[in-house]
Parts: sequence; structure tokens; C-alpha cells
Amino acid sequence: MKTSAFPIFTLKNTPSEAEVISHKLMIKSGMIRKLSSGQYTWLPLGYKVITKIEKIIREEMNSIGSVEILMPSVQPAELWQESERWDQYGPELLRFSDRHDRNFCFGPTYEEVITDLIRKDVSSYKQLPINFFQISSKFRDEIRPRFGVMRAREFIMKDAYSFHSNEESLNETYELYKSAYKNIFKRLLLDFTIVNADSGNIGGNESHEFHVIAETGEDDLLLDKSMNGMNLEIAKVKFKENNLDAILNKENLQHVKGIEVGHIFKLGQKYTEKMKTKISTKDSKTVNIFMGCYGIGVSRIVAAAIEQNNDEQGIKWPKPISPFDAIIIEIDGHKNSKVRSFSEAIYNNLKKKGVDILLDDRDLKMGNKLNDFELIGIPYAIIIGSKEAEKSITTIMMRKNSSKTSVNPEDIFKIISGK
Ligand code: ATP
Ligand code: MG
Repeated sequence: MKTSAFPIFTLKNTPSEAEVISHKLMIKSGMIRKLSSGQYTWLPLGYKVITKIEKIIREEMNSIGSVEILMPSVQPAELWQESERWDQYGPELLRFSDRHDRNFCFGPTYEEVITDLIRKDVSSYKQLPINFFQISSKFRDEIRPRFGVMRAREFIMKDAYSFHSNEESLNETYELYKSAYKNIFKRLLLDFTIVNADSGNIGGNESHEFHVIAETGEDDLLLDKSMNGMNLEIAKVKFKENNLDAILNKENLQHVKGIEVGHIFKLGQKYTEKMKTKISTKDSKTVNIFMGCYGIGVSRIVAAAIEQNNDEQGIKWPKPISPFDAIIIEIDGHKNSKVRSFSEAIYNNLKKKGVDILLDDRDLKMGNKLNDFELIGIPYAIIIGSKEAEKSITTIMMRKNSSKTSVNPEDIFKIISGK
């Protein structure tokens, strides 16, 4: 990509409405723009990060046999009345009616829709297990949208659902998702912990949350020595103790803040019972299907990653989700034809090798381009000015530590790809 065709919308001033660093940097670096409360447009740079996260999620979902589908964003009220959530869900559910006065909601989650799909098409244990996932925009009319895309009203979620003829099969699949989620957050190079969100009640459904550790997190977590996490509220119930310090002392735990980026849940027969979703078993009995659900906050991950990776100058992307692998900064390319042709040659060569490369061909001063490079947070800048073009050499600057090295064109690929 070239900036002439891939517009960069960086700002000079720090936006005042943003409270947390990720929100500030996402606006300042031109990743998002606000449409209305809790709603954001993803600009090219931001959307590029989204697609990289989605790619990793898709690969890990496919590797455990979860198959991608896409369900409508508007859902009929009847299904929510059947599950009894039309009354239970509260004002977070955005409700409206169509021209025939039929009630609908904008989907905040999809248990009802997918259970309806399964009950119409599945009747025998022979068709199970089934694993479906989708990546789509969800809407929740949050009481207090804040921190930009971290707690938005409209946001991108990957939601998966699994269906089983017995509990053992659900348990096996639940473990598969848990390990896929671990892989996803490891591949994103995020510092995370898994929190047992199970209340411990007998008959209570098992559930785990995945949290990115960050000071700005909204959730209170307790970590043991091996980084196993527990929800503070659940810990209070478990240890029959309301005082945080008392729990920390007694149990030798550490108190941290977490951003919930994923949540997996053994739903069991909760929805299939209410929505009469039955199959015939091997021994010709009729049972309600067992179900699990598995969510990841795709757009929230972007903010969480920035919370963990930034400095005074801007974002420092983990390589797997950086909007580009590297940026070529040409200096005065519009008036120096040697610089322009040298930059173009390097650009074409790297592109051919599969490097996701951005060529900054804007008519701007070197200082401005370097500031944008640091703000946007791409791991490497390949700097090409008249001196470099004369000698057919480049200067590579690393975002990580601001170090600059002279590099021959044929060695660039090795350095930026780590190969
Ligand atoms: P929270 O406790 O943060 O409100 P939740 O438990 O209601 O989240 P889930 O129903 O578990 O959310 O949804 C799955 C995932 O979707 C969450 O783990 C989170 O990463 C993401 N998510 C939920 N609500 C929002 C939101 N308002 N903005 C951005 N991402 C969200
Ligand atoms: Mg949750």
C-alpha cells in the first residue's frame, strides 16, 4: 500500500474526550472515529488490525473444527420470548418494530437464533456434534459506553456455539475451545490470564473468562503464584470473606485489573429445554441437546493490545497484529527522482516477497513522517533519503527501541521477517 491510496488520518493534538491511553492513541493515530455514543467507524489503519486479529481467530477456530457461518443482525422477538430473555435482558437489548408492528431486536448475542436453526435441521444424535462460529457486529445499549471501543454499544464479536448429544461430548469440546483461546491470545502476544468464572454452586454451569492484564481493566482479579486467576466477587463468596486485604493475605494472592476479552460457557440444556430442541439418542430416547457458547471481543482486543503496548510516542504493535509489517519513509521523494525510484524498487521487492508494506509517499517533512511512524506503531521503518539513494543503502529504525542501523537492500527482508 502507498499512503497516496491508503489515507492516514493522524492528529497532532491528543483528543481531550478520551480517558484511557488506548482510546487516545486510536483516535490520534487515525484508527477510529466516533459516529455517536459507543459507535465507531474503523478507518483503514484500524480495520487492518481487525482483519489481522480475525485471521488468527479464524485459523484457530478452523483448527478445532468450528465452521464459519453468518446470522442476521436483526432478530425476531418471538425467539427471545421463548427463551424468556425478552423480559430478562433489560434495557441493553435494543428493541424496535417493523412496519407490521412486529417486534425485533438488534442482536447482542445469538443463543436463540442458533438454537432455532439447530432445532429445525437436527433431529438425531448422528448429526452431532456441531460447531459453528460467526464474526459480526453486535449491539448492546450499554448504560455507560466508555473507553472507546473497549466498552462500545456496537462492537465486533466472534461468537461460537456447539451442540452435543451428551454431556461428555460438550465437556470435550469445551476443552478444545479453551485451548484454542489460549493459542489465540498467545499468538496475539498478549499478557493474559484465565479466570474461573464458575460460582462453584452444585449444578452451576462451568465458565471461564479470558482477561488481558491492564491497569485500566474494569474487572478485579486475584492471581495465584502460577498466574491462575479468580474473579474478586467469586473469591469473596468462596472464601466467605468480604475484605480484599484479608483474602490477599490469607491466600497469598495478587490483586490485578483485567480486561475481559473472551468468555466460554457450558450452557448445558438451558436454551434447548426452553426452546424444545430435542434429538433421538442411540438407544431411541428423546433428549434435549447439550450446548456450549464461546465469545471473543474482537474489537475490544485492539484496545487491550494498545493498553499493554505503548509509550510516550504512541503505539508499539505486537508484530502479528501490526497494521503493516514495515513502513518505507521516503524523504523528498516528490522532488528527488532517485529517492522515489529507489523507494519504489524496495517497495515492489518486499511486496513480491509477501511483506505487508506501506510506502509513505506523502509530501511531508521527515520529522512529521517519523512522528507518525512512532504514533502508528509499526515495528520497522525503512528510511530512504538522498544519502541512502546515492549509496543504495537504507536506514532501518526499530519502533521497539528507536535504534537505527544501515542495512543493504538485500538484507531488509531478513531483518523485518525475522527469517
Ligand atoms: P462485560 O462483562 O465486559 O460487559 P460480558 O460478560 O457482558 O462483557 P459476553 O456476553 O461474555 O460479555 O461477550 C463476549 C465478549 O464480547 C466479552 O468477553 C467481551 O470481550 C466482548 N464485549 C462484551 N461487551 C462489549 C462491549 N460493550 N464492547 C466491546 N466488547 C464487548
Ligand atoms: Mg462475559
